[in-house]
Amino acid sequence: MAPVGPGPGPLLDADELYRFYRNGEEEVLALRGVSLSVAAGEVVAVVGPSGSGKSTLLGCLAGLDEPAGGTVRILGQRMNARTEAERAALRARHVGILFQSENLFTHLTVAQNVALVQRLAGKQSNGPGEVLESVGLSTRARAYPSQLSGGETSRAGLAVALANEPELLLADEPTGELDSEAGLRLVQLLRRQADSGCGILIVTHSPDAVAAADRVVFLADGRVQEPPRKEAS
Ligand code: ADP
Ligand code: MG
Repeated sequence: MAPVGPGPGPLLDADELYRFYRNGEEEVLALRGVSLSVAAGEVVAVVGPSGSGKSTLLGCLAGLDEPAGGTVRILGQRMNARTEAERAALRARHVGILFQSENLFTHLTVAQNVALVQRLAGKQSNGPGEVLESVGLSTRARAYPSQLSGGETSRAGLAVALANEPELLLADEPTGELDSEAGLRLVQLLRRQADSGCGILIVTHSPDAVAAADRVVFLADGRVQEPPRKEAS
C-alpha cells in the first residue's frame, strides 16, 4: 500500500490515465493516456465535445471509477488501485463532488442534507451553518429540495459538496441546467472557493466558467489536446 499522509506535489495529479469500455465486440477507448494536475487555489476547466471522455475522467479522478492504467494522486496519496473502502475514505476526507443531477436527499431539509454528509465523513465540523452561509443559502436552511429554485438547488448541491471543506472539488457540468444568471452566480462561488485555497476541476461548456478558470484543458477522443503553438521560425 502507498504511504498515507500528505506528500509533495500538486493537490491532484493524474498521470497517463487509460479507461476502456467493452460493448460486446466493440471496444470504446474513453481515455487514452490523459495526464493533468490541479494546484491548490486553481480552477481548471475541462472542455471538449460530447463523448470525449470528460465524465469518465472525473469518475476516475474521484475514485468512483477505476482506470485500466495510470495513476491518480490526491495530496500525494494514490486514489486508484485500492479497495473501494479506501477510495471512499480518501474521497470523504479530501474531495467534494458536484454533478449536474442533484445530490440532495428529498426527505431532508437543506441543512439536514449538509449535516448528514458532515456526520458521515467523521471529520470535525462546525455544522451546516457556515457552509450554507458561504453559498448564500442561510435563509433556505429549513427548506426541502422540492421547495428550491434551480439556482438554489445548485447552490445546495455545492453546499453538500463543500460540507467537509474538501481540498479538491470536482464538478461535472454544474451549470448545465441553469439559466445564465444562476449559472454565473454558481461560477462566482466556485471562483471564490478557489481563491480561498480549494483546487477545482470543472467540466463545462459554459463561457462564464471558462472565463473564470485559470487554465483550460481541451479533451478530444480521450486525449488532452495541446494548445496550438506558434510556428517555429
Ligand atoms: P463526455 O462526458 O465527454 O460526454 P463520457 O466520458 O461520458 O464523455 O464518454 C466517453 C466515451 O465512453 C463515449 O464514447 C461513451 O459512449 C463511452 N462510455 C461512457 N460510459 C460508458 C459505459 N458505461 N459503457 C460503455 N461506454 C461508455
Ligand atoms: Mg459527460
